[in-house]
Amino acid sequence: MIANYYNFSIMCYAIPGKIVEINSRFAVVDYFGEKRNVLNDEQPIKIGDYVYAQGGILVDKVETKEAIKILEFWKRQFFELKKIDRNLSQKAGKQKIEQNTLSLFQKINRSQELSNQEALTLLSLSNRKELELLYKMANNIRQKNNDNACCVHGIIEFSNCCANNCFYCGIRKNLKISRFRMSPEEIINTAQIAVEKYGFKALVLQSGEDPYYTEKILELIIKKIRAMGVLIFLSIGVRDASEYESFYKAGARAILLRFETSNKKIFKRLRPNTSFEKRIKLIKKLKKIGYLIATGFLIGLPDETNQDIINNIILTKKLEADMYSFGPLIPAGGTPLGRQKTADIDLVLKTIALTRIIDHEAKILVTTALETLGTNAKKRGLLAGANSLMLNVTPSIFRKKYAIYPGRPDRNKGIEKNIKSTVNLLYSIGRAPTDLGI
Ligand code: SAH
Ligand code: SF4
Repeated sequence: MIANYYNFSIMCYAIPGKIVEINSRFAVVDYFGEKRNVLNDEQPIKIGDYVYAQGGILVDKVETKEAIKILEFWKRQFFELKKIDRNLSQKAGKQKIEQNTLSLFQKINRSQELSNQEALTLLSLSNRKELELLYKMANNIRQKNNDNACCVHGIIEFSNCCANNCFYCGIRKNLKISRFRMSPEEIINTAQIAVEKYGFKALVLQSGEDPYYTEKILELIIKKIRAMGVLIFLSIGVRDASEYESFYKAGARAILLRFETSNKKIFKRLRPNTSFEKRIKLIKKLKKIGYLIATGFLIGLPDETNQDIINNIILTKKLEADMYSFGPLIPAGGTPLGRQKTADIDLVLKTIALTRIIDHEAKILVTTALETLGTNAKKRGLLAGANSLMLNVTPSIFRKKYAIYPGRPDRNKGIEKNIKSTVNLLYSIGRAPTDLGI
């Protein structure tokens, strides 16, 4: 039995590991016998120290006494969760399915590369039995390559002011909505609660493209939050590379910046006054600076084809993304795409499964947009090959106003309630917050 454990101070989303090897900027961290490589560019460490790592980056040291207390709790859970995950991700027995699909599935089981045509066939599957089998296979690949590790990051949405007018977005500049900007103190305090009260070890700072937050202001915020011992993701849109260099120096280590679509025509139509080439160039530059990159796309844009989805997955891989972030377009009222049909949940699950098949070791995020497609959507995403989550820790007065799309399941839910139900879900499917390493 997995205990319901809500002592937030004992960290639900990260397990401390022990340093067992140090090779200049890299270290090997041990989690109950499992070894992961991590990058260490800041902390003075020695063998035997206990640390937290996120996304393959060492983010904090932890007192030995404290680490041993936390590990004591995890010792039993850790192996129990693995068992649950292994059972759930076991390959299905023999099933009666159509011959063509069967040979395609056999190819996936042999880890053979799929042709473009075969990938298209997968995305067009609609038979329930075949779909469930596809998700099961993808989940099996996830388990074999990444075990039961699952990243859980907190997200703080700190401003809904944006200089852009993306056709799909509920906070686009042209919309008359109530705008907010959190002050640096409010952002830092929110981060502090997320870290100290809820135990997050990675935080995403997200906003519209808002020049109000100057390089200096953001640097200050980043430095203060970095000092709390967390991995900082920035999701603030396109800014000068030189600014991103300063943010890196200040302590930010990861970026969430989707290219949105690899179809340049669609990009141009839906993102006026922005440039596809500039966005891609920036993502490449950020990778060079040393940031972990989370990128991806929207599913269900007008005129998008399944071929576009395949091209999107391939472009994400080509950009050497450390994490795939894609989700369905949820039509937002008042926007030019307000009447667009929402993508079918199975198309999103098929995209997760296909991504897992194409990129076995990927970190794949279940986005909140996917969660709006059904009460079980988060679980279904995780069981179709995904292994990362983000939980909203924005204070509710602001969260309500950050309405990029409607119907967000977390919009009225208290933070604690949301954390509890997610942690329960993760335990019920045997996932543990060990770091995935690099
Ligand atoms: N301004 C930044 C970050 C905030 S927007 C940026 O654009 O990168 C974060 C993401 O929200 C975008 O990348 C986009 O893919 C997604 N998004 C915007 N409108 C959406 C909608 N209606 N449905 C689903 N996702 C949406
Ligand atoms: Fe602004 Fe991002 Fe929305 Fe585009 S998607 S309008 S850049 S917040």
